[in-house]
Amino acid sequence: LDVNFAPYINFKGEAKGVVVVLHDFTEIRRLEKMRSDFVANVSHELRTPITSIKGFTETLLDGAMQDEETCRNFLQIIYDESERLYRMIRDILDLSKIEQKRLTLQLTEVDLQDLMASTVALLQEQAQRKQISIQLPDPHPRVTLTTDKDCLQQIILNLVTNAVVYTPEGGAISLSLRQERGQVQFQVADTGIGIPEADLPRIFERFYRVDRARSRDSGGTGLGLAIVKHLVENLHGHITVQSAEGEGTTFTVTLPLQW
Ligand code: ADP
Repeated sequence: LDVNFAPYINFKGEAKGVVVVLHDFTEIRRLEKMRSDFVANVSHELRTPITSIKGFTETLLDGAMQDEETCRNFLQIIYDESERLYRMIRDILDLSKIEQKRLTLQLTEVDLQDLMASTVALLQEQAQRKQISIQLPDPHPRVTLTTDKDCLQQIILNLVTNAVVYTPEGGAISLSLRQERGQVQFQVADTGIGIPEADLPRIFERFYRVDRARSRDSGGTGLGLAIVKHLVENLHGHITVQSAEGEGTTFTVTLPLQW
Protein backbone atom coordinates (compact mmCIF):
# COMPACT_ATOMS: atom_id res chain seq x y z
CA LEU A 1 0.00 0.00 0.00
CA ASP A 2 1.30 3.43 -0.94
CA VAL A 3 0.10 6.37 1.21
CA ASN A 4 0.50 10.09 0.37
CA PHE A 5 -0.51 13.01 2.58
CA ALA A 6 -1.03 16.64 1.55
CA PRO A 7 -2.40 19.49 3.65
CA TYR A 8 -5.72 20.85 2.52
CA ILE A 9 -5.56 24.63 2.60
CA ASN A 10 -8.55 26.84 1.72
CA PHE A 11 -8.47 30.06 -0.33
CA LYS A 12 -7.79 32.13 2.82
CA GLY A 13 -4.65 30.14 3.45
CA GLU A 14 -6.10 28.33 6.47
CA ALA A 15 -5.23 24.71 6.99
CA LYS A 16 -8.54 22.88 6.94
CA GLY A 17 -7.43 19.29 6.91
CA VAL A 18 -5.39 16.71 5.09
CA VAL A 19 -5.85 14.94 1.82
CA VAL A 20 -4.84 11.29 2.01
CA VAL A 21 -4.21 9.33 -1.18
CA LEU A 22 -4.02 5.56 -0.90
CA HIS A 23 -2.67 3.40 -3.74
CA ASP A 24 -3.30 -0.30 -3.65
CA PHE A 25 -0.36 -2.09 -5.29
CA THR A 26 -1.43 -5.61 -4.35
CA GLU A 27 -2.76 -6.42 -7.83
CA ILE A 28 0.27 -4.95 -9.62
CA ARG A 29 2.64 -6.86 -7.32
CA ARG A 30 0.67 -10.06 -7.89
CA LEU A 31 0.93 -9.67 -11.66
CA GLU A 32 4.64 -8.88 -11.40
CA LYS A 33 5.16 -11.99 -9.31
CA MET A 34 3.21 -14.10 -11.78
CA ARG A 35 5.37 -12.79 -14.61
CA SER A 36 8.64 -13.42 -12.82
CA ASP A 37 7.49 -16.92 -11.75
CA PHE A 38 6.64 -17.61 -15.39
CA VAL A 39 10.08 -16.48 -16.60
CA ALA A 40 11.73 -18.63 -13.92
CA ASN A 41 9.61 -21.64 -14.93
CA VAL A 42 10.28 -21.13 -18.63
CA SER A 43 14.03 -20.90 -18.06
CA HIS A 44 14.00 -24.04 -15.99
CA GLU A 45 11.87 -25.97 -18.47
CA LEU A 46 14.04 -24.94 -21.43
CA ARG A 47 17.25 -25.74 -19.61
CA THR A 48 16.35 -29.42 -19.17
CA PRO A 49 16.36 -30.42 -22.86
CA ILE A 50 19.33 -28.14 -23.61
CA THR A 51 21.39 -29.73 -20.82
CA SER A 52 20.65 -33.13 -22.23
CA ILE A 53 21.46 -32.11 -25.83
CA LYS A 54 24.75 -30.59 -24.65
CA GLY A 55 25.68 -33.60 -22.52
CA PHE A 56 25.07 -36.20 -25.22
CA THR A 57 26.83 -34.11 -27.87
CA GLU A 58 29.89 -33.71 -25.64
CA THR A 59 30.03 -37.45 -24.97
CA LEU A 60 29.86 -38.12 -28.71
CA LEU A 61 32.64 -35.64 -29.43
CA ASP A 62 34.73 -37.16 -26.63
CA GLY A 63 34.91 -40.46 -28.48
CA ALA A 64 31.56 -42.24 -28.11
CA MET A 65 31.14 -41.62 -31.83
CA GLN A 66 33.43 -44.59 -32.60
CA ASP A 67 30.68 -47.02 -31.65
CA GLU A 68 27.94 -46.93 -34.23
CA GLU A 69 25.13 -48.17 -31.99
CA THR A 70 25.92 -45.73 -29.18
CA CYS A 71 26.15 -43.02 -31.75
CA ARG A 72 22.72 -43.87 -33.14
CA ASN A 73 21.15 -44.00 -29.64
CA PHE A 74 22.61 -40.68 -28.61
CA LEU A 75 21.60 -39.00 -31.85
CA GLN A 76 18.05 -40.25 -31.36
CA ILE A 77 17.98 -38.72 -27.86
CA ILE A 78 19.39 -35.45 -29.18
CA TYR A 79 16.76 -35.44 -31.93
CA ASP A 80 13.89 -36.15 -29.48
CA GLU A 81 15.05 -33.46 -27.09
CA SER A 82 15.34 -30.91 -29.91
CA GLU A 83 11.80 -31.78 -30.95
CA ARG A 84 10.60 -31.22 -27.39
CA LEU A 85 12.43 -27.93 -27.22
CA TYR A 86 10.78 -26.91 -30.48
CA ARG A 87 7.31 -27.86 -29.18
CA MET A 88 7.93 -26.02 -25.95
CA ILE A 89 8.92 -22.79 -27.66
CA ARG A 90 5.93 -23.10 -29.99
CA ASP A 91 3.59 -23.63 -27.00
CA ILE A 92 5.08 -20.74 -25.01
CA LEU A 93 4.65 -18.39 -27.98
CA ASP A 94 1.11 -19.65 -28.60
CA LEU A 95 0.23 -19.12 -24.98
CA SER A 96 1.53 -15.59 -24.83
CA LYS A 97 -0.28 -14.72 -28.07
CA ILE A 98 -3.53 -16.16 -26.75
CA GLU A 99 -3.09 -14.40 -23.41
CA GLN A 100 -2.58 -11.05 -24.98
CA LYS A 101 -5.62 -11.75 -27.13
CA ARG A 102 -3.52 -10.82 -30.13
CA LEU A 103 -5.12 -13.79 -31.73
CA THR A 104 -7.72 -12.15 -33.88
CA LEU A 105 -10.68 -14.43 -33.89
CA GLN A 106 -12.23 -15.40 -37.20
CA LEU A 107 -15.85 -16.25 -36.63
CA THR A 108 -17.45 -18.70 -39.02
CA GLU A 109 -20.18 -21.29 -38.96
CA VAL A 110 -18.56 -24.52 -37.75
CA ASP A 111 -20.00 -28.01 -38.01
CA LEU A 112 -18.90 -29.57 -34.72
CA GLN A 113 -19.22 -33.24 -35.69
CA ASP A 114 -17.23 -32.62 -38.89
CA LEU A 115 -14.52 -30.79 -36.99
CA MET A 116 -14.30 -33.55 -34.39
CA ALA A 117 -14.01 -36.20 -37.10
CA SER A 118 -11.27 -34.37 -39.02
CA THR A 119 -9.33 -33.62 -35.83
CA VAL A 120 -9.54 -37.19 -34.54
CA ALA A 121 -8.30 -38.39 -37.95
CA LEU A 122 -4.99 -36.61 -37.23
CA LEU A 123 -4.51 -38.79 -34.13
CA GLN A 124 -5.89 -42.07 -35.44
CA GLU A 125 -2.47 -43.56 -36.19
CA GLN A 126 -1.11 -42.74 -32.76
CA ALA A 127 -4.23 -44.26 -31.17
CA GLN A 128 -4.07 -47.39 -33.31
CA ARG A 129 -0.48 -48.01 -32.24
CA LYS A 130 -1.84 -48.36 -28.69
CA GLN A 131 -4.99 -50.17 -29.82
CA ILE A 132 -7.10 -47.39 -28.43
CA SER A 133 -10.52 -46.94 -30.00
CA ILE A 134 -11.92 -43.47 -30.55
CA GLN A 135 -15.66 -43.10 -30.72
CA LEU A 136 -17.14 -40.04 -32.40
CA PRO A 137 -20.56 -38.55 -31.63
CA ASP A 138 -23.56 -39.32 -33.78
CA PRO A 139 -23.38 -37.05 -36.86
CA HIS A 140 -27.15 -36.40 -36.68
CA PRO A 141 -28.68 -34.07 -35.87
CA ARG A 142 -26.00 -31.63 -37.02
CA VAL A 143 -24.68 -29.23 -34.41
CA THR A 144 -23.26 -26.01 -35.78
CA LEU A 145 -21.97 -23.00 -33.91
CA THR A 146 -20.50 -19.64 -34.77
CA THR A 147 -16.95 -19.62 -33.48
CA ASP A 148 -13.27 -19.55 -34.41
CA LYS A 149 -12.61 -22.86 -36.14
CA ASP A 150 -8.81 -22.93 -35.57
CA CYS A 151 -9.17 -22.28 -31.85
CA LEU A 152 -11.85 -24.92 -31.50
CA GLN A 153 -9.76 -27.42 -33.43
CA GLN A 154 -6.76 -26.74 -31.17
CA ILE A 155 -8.94 -27.35 -28.10
CA ILE A 156 -10.19 -30.69 -29.42
CA LEU A 157 -6.71 -31.68 -30.61
CA ASN A 158 -5.06 -31.00 -27.24
CA LEU A 159 -7.77 -32.81 -25.26
CA VAL A 160 -7.79 -35.88 -27.51
CA THR A 161 -3.96 -35.95 -27.65
CA ASN A 162 -3.86 -36.07 -23.85
CA ALA A 163 -6.53 -38.76 -23.81
CA VAL A 164 -4.37 -40.90 -26.14
CA VAL A 165 -1.19 -40.24 -24.14
CA TYR A 166 -2.67 -40.91 -20.71
CA THR A 167 -4.69 -44.00 -21.68
CA PRO A 168 -2.98 -47.39 -21.56
CA GLU A 169 -3.08 -49.88 -24.45
CA GLY A 170 -6.48 -51.23 -25.35
CA GLY A 171 -8.38 -48.34 -23.79
CA ALA A 172 -11.19 -46.27 -25.21
CA ILE A 173 -11.82 -42.60 -25.89
CA SER A 174 -15.23 -41.22 -26.57
CA LEU A 175 -16.34 -37.83 -27.85
CA SER A 176 -19.90 -36.76 -27.25
CA LEU A 177 -21.94 -33.59 -27.47
CA ARG A 178 -25.27 -32.08 -26.66
CA GLN A 179 -26.92 -28.85 -27.54
CA GLU A 180 -29.12 -26.97 -25.15
CA ARG A 181 -30.38 -23.44 -24.56
CA GLY A 182 -28.03 -21.52 -26.84
CA GLN A 183 -25.04 -23.56 -25.80
CA VAL A 184 -23.21 -26.64 -26.89
CA GLN A 185 -21.51 -28.92 -24.44
CA PHE A 186 -19.00 -31.49 -25.60
CA GLN A 187 -17.00 -34.07 -23.74
CA VAL A 188 -13.76 -35.94 -24.29
CA ALA A 189 -13.79 -39.00 -22.06
CA ASP A 190 -11.10 -41.64 -21.68
CA THR A 191 -10.56 -44.87 -19.76
CA GLY A 192 -7.03 -43.84 -18.82
CA ILE A 193 -4.91 -43.46 -15.72
CA GLY A 194 -7.00 -40.64 -14.29
CA ILE A 195 -5.85 -37.67 -12.24
CA PRO A 196 -5.53 -37.72 -8.43
CA GLU A 197 -8.08 -35.47 -6.75
CA ALA A 198 -5.38 -33.34 -5.13
CA ASP A 199 -3.93 -32.45 -8.55
CA LEU A 200 -7.22 -31.65 -10.28
CA PRO A 201 -7.39 -27.96 -9.30
CA ARG A 202 -3.91 -27.35 -10.71
CA ILE A 203 -3.83 -29.18 -14.04
CA PHE A 204 -4.74 -26.07 -16.06
CA GLU A 205 -1.71 -24.19 -14.69
CA ARG A 206 1.25 -23.65 -16.96
CA PHE A 207 3.89 -26.39 -16.64
CA TYR A 208 1.87 -28.30 -14.05
CA ARG A 209 2.19 -32.06 -14.52
CA VAL A 210 1.01 -34.84 -12.29
CA ASP A 211 3.86 -37.12 -13.26
CA ARG A 212 6.77 -35.15 -14.63
CA ALA A 213 8.66 -38.19 -15.93
CA ARG A 214 5.67 -39.69 -17.72
CA SER A 215 4.78 -36.37 -19.30
CA ARG A 216 8.37 -35.88 -20.47
CA ASP A 217 8.60 -39.37 -21.93
CA SER A 218 5.46 -38.73 -23.91
CA GLY A 219 6.92 -35.48 -25.23
CA GLY A 220 4.61 -33.30 -23.14
CA THR A 221 5.36 -29.66 -22.41
CA GLY A 222 2.95 -29.14 -19.51
CA LEU A 223 1.33 -26.33 -21.47
CA GLY A 224 -1.38 -28.18 -23.40
CA LEU A 225 -4.16 -27.66 -20.87
CA ALA A 226 -3.15 -24.07 -20.07
CA ILE A 227 -3.54 -23.36 -23.79
CA VAL A 228 -6.90 -25.16 -23.88
CA LYS A 229 -8.22 -23.14 -20.94
CA HIS A 230 -7.20 -19.82 -22.47
CA LEU A 231 -8.64 -20.75 -25.86
CA VAL A 232 -11.95 -21.82 -24.32
CA GLU A 233 -12.14 -18.53 -22.44
CA ASN A 234 -11.35 -16.58 -25.61
CA LEU A 235 -14.32 -18.35 -27.18
CA HIS A 236 -16.51 -17.21 -24.25
CA GLY A 237 -16.83 -20.72 -22.90
CA HIS A 238 -15.69 -22.71 -19.91
CA ILE A 239 -14.09 -26.06 -19.20
CA THR A 240 -14.41 -28.53 -16.34
CA VAL A 241 -12.80 -31.85 -15.55
CA GLN A 242 -13.88 -34.97 -13.72
CA SER A 243 -11.56 -37.82 -13.02
CA ALA A 244 -11.09 -40.98 -11.01
CA GLU A 245 -7.63 -42.49 -10.62
CA GLY A 246 -7.26 -45.71 -12.54
CA GLU A 247 -10.66 -45.29 -14.17
CA GLY A 248 -10.49 -42.34 -16.50
CA THR A 249 -10.95 -38.67 -17.12
CA THR A 250 -13.65 -36.56 -18.73
CA PHE A 251 -13.19 -32.99 -19.89
CA THR A 252 -16.37 -30.99 -20.55
CA VAL A 253 -16.28 -27.86 -22.69
CA THR A 254 -19.27 -25.53 -22.86
CA LEU A 255 -19.45 -22.97 -25.66
CA PRO A 256 -22.09 -20.50 -26.77
CA LEU A 257 -23.72 -21.30 -30.13
CA GLN A 258 -23.54 -17.63 -31.06
CA TRP A 259 -21.92 -14.47 -29.63
P1 ADP B 1 1.43 -32.40 -20.74
O1 ADP B 1 2.23 -31.82 -21.85
O2 ADP B 1 2.25 -32.80 -19.57
O3 ADP B 1 0.46 -33.43 -21.17
P2 ADP B 1 -0.93 -30.74 -20.20
O4 ADP B 1 -1.02 -29.31 -19.81
O5 ADP B 1 -1.58 -31.14 -21.47
O6 ADP B 1 0.61 -31.11 -20.18
O7 ADP B 1 -1.54 -31.60 -19.01
C1 ADP B 1 -1.13 -31.36 -17.69
C2 ADP B 1 -1.13 -32.64 -16.88
O8 ADP B 1 -2.47 -33.08 -16.66
C3 ADP B 1 -0.42 -33.81 -17.55
O9 ADP B 1 0.96 -33.82 -17.30
C4 ADP B 1 -1.12 -35.01 -16.92
O10 ADP B 1 -0.51 -35.29 -15.68
C5 ADP B 1 -2.54 -34.50 -16.66
N1 ADP B 1 -3.50 -34.92 -17.70
C6 ADP B 1 -3.95 -34.18 -18.74
N2 ADP B 1 -4.87 -34.86 -19.47
C7 ADP B 1 -5.01 -36.06 -18.87
C8 ADP B 1 -5.83 -37.22 -19.14
N3 ADP B 1 -6.69 -37.28 -20.16
N4 ADP B 1 -5.71 -38.28 -18.29
C9 ADP B 1 -4.85 -38.24 -17.24
N5 ADP B 1 -4.06 -37.18 -16.94
C10 ADP B 1 -4.13 -36.11 -17.75
